[in-house]
Amino acid sequence: MTANWTELGDRCWVRRYPEWDLNIGVVAGSAGVLVIDTHATVSYATSLLDDVRQLVPGSEVRWAVNTHAHFDHTFGNSVFADAGVTVISQENAAAQLLERGPLLQQRYVENPGVDPDFPTIPADVIAEIAVAPVVAASETFAVAKVIDLGDRRVELLHLGNGHTDGDIVVLVPDADVIFTGDLVESSGPPSYGDDCYPLDWPDTLDRIVGLLTATTRVVPGHGPVVDAEFVRDQGGEIGSVANNISGLHHNGATLDYALRHDEWPYPTAQLADAVRRGYEQLGGVRRTLPMA
Ligand SMILES: [Zn+2]
Repeated sequence: MTANWTELGDRCWVRRYPEWDLNIGVVAGSAGVLVIDTHATVSYATSLLDDVRQLVPGSEVRWAVNTHAHFDHTFGNSVFADAGVTVISQENAAAQLLERGPLLQQRYVENPGVDPDFPTIPADVIAEIAVAPVVAASETFAVAKVIDLGDRRVELLHLGNGHTDGDIVVLVPDADVIFTGDLVESSGPPSYGDDCYPLDWPDTLDRIVGLLTATTRVVPGHGPVVDAEFVRDQGGEIGSVANNISGLHHNGATLDYALRHDEWPYPTAQLADAVRRGYEQLGGVRRTLPMA
């Protein structure tokens, strides 16, 4: 069954799973199949692995890549590892998964039911997230790694911090396709969480733009496939968030003031962590002397 998969280039597919509008990628070569991200629970990942095997019958699924550490991209790792698939991520992502994954689960064990921060996740899925085995990648790298799929290569690149400190892009050069994880999102504004790097993110996106051609298909972590122009536009918005943070900090604006008073490209409710993280990176707010 290939109906739910979109072939973006030769043997390079994406499937948009309805949960969080999550994109899963598949690249097939003569030596085996690579899967991009492992979904959020054991049952989702088990279905995913079945879906991939139906997509490329007769081929062995050999590699699974995590674009970053967040649960919706990694909590299915155990299913792949148990099936003999090599799970690969950037080294910071592996460490962050082991450090922060259990904290998320603890929160869900202590507060079962719907998460007010993620009201779209059903309670039964929350319960599954809470008990998923947290398994980090068995192979990690710092900056770049090439995977030899036999008759083609796939490049994994850590181009800098952004959505997290362990984001990678997965480049499929012969298909002119790139999977960006949550460095790019088209289902809504980019997600600034409490582990984001708002000031570094624009440069990282610039490096991604440098890899794109006018015809490159760009697969975001969530949402429809986009192009270079979309990435440039989102990079401009992410750049203006960074500039606002720097400017406000320089002027001594408090966090509250910053969120109330400047013009942001995204709803301020979603930028609290961005501003806080940016301020942390820039150091304490300079105190100004009162006018006497
Ligand atoms: Zn994420």
